[in-house]
Amino acid sequence: MNSNEIDIHKELKKYFGFSQFKGLQERVIKSILAKENTFVIMPTGGGKSLCYQLPSLVQEGTAIVVSPLIALMKNQVDAIRSVSTNDGIAHVLNSSLTKTEINQVKKDIVSGITKLLYVAPESLTKEEYVEFLQSVKISFVAIDEAHCISEWGHDFRPEYRNLKNIIKQLGDVPVIGLTATATPKVQEDILKNLDMSDATTYKASFNRPNLFYEVRTKTKNIEADIIRFIKQNKGKSGIIYCLSRKKVEEIAQVLQVNGISAVPYHAGLDAKTRAKHQDMFLMEDVDVVVATIAFGMGIDKPDVRFVIHHDIPKSLESYYQETGRAGRDGGEGHCLAYYSYKDVEKLEKFMSGKPVAEQEIGYALLQEVVAYAETSMSRRKFLLHYFGEEFDSETGEGADMDDNVRNPKAKVEAKDNVIKLLQVVRDTKYLYKSKEIVFTLIGRVNATIKAHRTDAQSFFGCGKDQEERYWMALIRQVLVDGMLTKDIETYGILKVSDKGHYYIKNPTSFMMSEDHEYNEAEDDAIVT
Ligand code: ADP
Repeated sequence: MNSNEIDIHKELKKYFGFSQFKGLQERVIKSILAKENTFVIMPTGGGKSLCYQLPSLVQEGTAIVVSPLIALMKNQVDAIRSVSTNDGIAHVLNSSLTKTEINQVKKDIVSGITKLLYVAPESLTKEEYVEFLQSVKISFVAIDEAHCISEWGHDFRPEYRNLKNIIKQLGDVPVIGLTATATPKVQEDILKNLDMSDATTYKASFNRPNLFYEVRTKTKNIEADIIRFIKQNKGKSGIIYCLSRKKVEEIAQVLQVNGISAVPYHAGLDAKTRAKHQDMFLMEDVDVVVATIAFGMGIDKPDVRFVIHHDIPKSLESYYQETGRAGRDGGEGHCLAYYSYKDVEKLEKFMSGKPVAEQEIGYALLQEVVAYAETSMSRRKFLLHYFGEEFDSETGEGADMDDNVRNPKAKVEAKDNVIKLLQVVRDTKYLYKSKEIVFTLIGRVNATIKAHRTDAQSFFGCGKDQEERYWMALIRQVLVDGMLTKDIETYGILKVSDKGHYYIKNPTSFMMSEDHEYNEAEDDAIVT
């Protein structure tokens, strides 16, 4: 059938029962049906699955869907089978199948009734599967959770790196990459590693206007604070994320003792208990799940009203992903994170055993979390900027939905200091990350500065009338404003953008507010 002849609205109703496409779905589907390489970036819940499921159902041949998790694949297959009378419509091909089952799958594919074949990346590398797939008609290859291909994503899977070569062996088939996590760096990595720089990209907004963002100082009284918060939100569903299993158990117990219905969830519990606790949460037998990040993948509970981070996450991608589980029905969703710099140091220590490149990446990602926590600007604007999206913190949807906007700090004129900062970044010839730039401004020497003889420059110490934390805050705000950029390849070297060069010559008022000060940290170990 020619793609122009397909009435995709009719097919949408027929297979999925929906009368309208959501967001960018229609455009994505048309792009896939036109056999274009397509790149889809949509936040969780945006409706990515339908983007490839519908085209697979209305085209000849089988679509291969690469997905990292067997559990996710099973859910997807069950869901798609429920829209059809034909059981062979979707299959999973993985190592858990028996010989007989594999033969049945192959038979269904050959006879043309299988429209979707879900495979794990490691199965796809098996020669016998590749040979078989070469002999049948493939409509397209969809790579779900495509950020797994990038070391800058939050869930790097080396097997994803082989996909390009395997797809090439399948002949000239369109490739669809899909992800919910795409900082500009991850996007670039996906396009490069899948060899699809010609792809048409569809990126939905990552703004979740119904989510309220808040950061609180983590003190010794954190447990009492969490209990108070939950009691103020009595009867509502919520998730509390902790970085260690031990902490998960502890907090779940403290909550139970205080009359809050809560269960723990982490990978150390046996599968039966995990499934039971997850079901209890979904069925509303308990209000709160206290969990490690093991909890949440593929969970579609629409009315989670709060997500609390007892410990800060390792990256803003994870934070966005985890908080994204709140308010999926469009209703209220409170995202509360507890922050102390001691936790950051613990996470850094934790990374120190890893290979150097991985450490550098981990450190750079963590610095962004620190910046988010410490910032006094609109948290939504900060987050969206991180995802390459500009947000108007005055008129944008959800603009007043964070603690910083509700309780703004006093602002001070920083025009002269912005010029000073931009000039120092320019005149140190793009050698430095934030730390050395601040040291240069306040006139502090370290080995790097000595090596480049920056301490002998006339501008060395030109900003010593302000403290280190003032300059760190200013850098963050100037970065979000776009006058400075951070080079990711070099793990954070600062550069002056065109806008910044223009500002040096044509300065205007720049109002800044100082960052939050968080002290009084709680002392507990992070053991994942
Ligand atoms: P993602 O994979 O992007 O997280 P899903 O594919 O799981 O999102 O879809 C999220 C939810 O939106 C699902 O419950 C799905 O049934 C629903 N959905 C998808 N497309 C539509 C649509 N066109 N109309 C209404 N609901 C939709």
